[in-house]
Amino acid sequence: MSNAAGYAAQSATSPIRYFDLQRREPGPDDVEIDILFCGVCHSDLHYVRGEWGPVPYPAAPGHEIVGRVTRVGKDVTKLKVGDMAGVGCIVDSCLSCSACKEDLENYCETGMIGTYGGVEKQTGLPTQGGYTSKIVVRDHHVLKVPEGLDPAAAAPLLCAGITTYSPLRHWKVGPGHKVGVVGLGGLGHMAVKLAAAMGAEVTLFTTSPDKVADGKALGATNVVISKDPEQMQAVGASLDFIINTVAAPHSLDPFLAALKRDGVMTLVGVPSEPHPSPSVFGLIMKRRSLAGSMIGGIAETQEMLDFCAEKGIGAEIEVIPIQEINTAFDRMLNGKVKYRFVIDMQSLKDEAAKAA
Ligand code: NAP
Ligand code: ZN
Repeated sequence: MSNAAGYAAQSATSPIRYFDLQRREPGPDDVEIDILFCGVCHSDLHYVRGEWGPVPYPAAPGHEIVGRVTRVGKDVTKLKVGDMAGVGCIVDSCLSCSACKEDLENYCETGMIGTYGGVEKQTGLPTQGGYTSKIVVRDHHVLKVPEGLDPAAAAPLLCAGITTYSPLRHWKVGPGHKVGVVGLGGLGHMAVKLAAAMGAEVTLFTTSPDKVADGKALGATNVVISKDPEQMQAVGASLDFIINTVAAPHSLDPFLAALKRDGVMTLVGVPSEPHPSPSVFGLIMKRRSLAGSMIGGIAETQEMLDFCAEKGIGAEIEVIPIQEINTAFDRMLNGKVKYRFVIDMQSLKDEAAKAA
């Protein structure tokens, strides 16, 4: 084991603060990464506050990791020391079930091992995420961050990017499609950019009137204030596909009503409490579907990174030192993030050096 530093929650109600942790020595198929940047996902907040179930405190979140490879095991061929690498939400999976064989490690039948909140096969210890100075990950689950992508703006692609890219691809969004995006936060702003880059006409639904201009600048043709029934009525039965990123329970009916016949709304936001049940009439009247999607597989994540590099797409970020993480969480809870916080991990390394 080797020493590392991090920021972790000690309970569901305590602020996140400095802690020391240990990382395993890289095994034959492991990659060790010096973490440079880590994005701040709303899932990090749901997780540390225990909103999704019991948490093995101390708990360091973070699954939008970009850094430099510092060591590789003897069997690793995918990456070498010095490469810019990425780690998303998955650090391990069985690689032999039918899902893994179809490059869907995110749906691994024995259970994917999350970057945080999982149990490391190699040590039996809880996995600790990217709010840390370094991480050791099985090579298959490490991504290559293409040259030309800004490493800080690329970090959010590892979760917000792939979580929105994957359903857009699965439901074959492209030119001629009318796509709705609900919520302009970390996931939502990536969904707007990616759907527009795939050639779709994008309608953004937001609760925040101050985000209208940004929504258009990011690629939306129309922006609808979802709290305004008249504006909602005006987009009725007009969209082919909706991706709903909202992190809180809300009525799905007004959004289902915006779908055409055979339209699909995919939920990617995961509130701690259920949404009110949708009206069955809203579904049957136009043979609409309500679906869900969770991140994406490793090959598709690489495809998304390469697509973003080709199209010049990164996240809109506000870079913060790790010492500001608790304020960042408060702003995220109030929908006041434009549009992803990214932690500059040098701030953690400086604090660790002072503490030593
Ligand atoms: P975020 O940056 O906080 O964005 C959520 C957006 O939802 C807000 O900016 C806001 O946009 C909108 N919203 C409307 N009403 C809200 C309310 N009452 N409370 C909170 N947000 C509200 O969050 P994120 O990082 O994009 O994550 C969104 C959700 O996706 C979270 O639940 C997260 O856990 C989940 N997630 C799922 C996956 C997956 O694999 N399915 C992966 C990553 C994250 P407006 O101001 O425009 O209304
Ligand atoms: Zn996430």
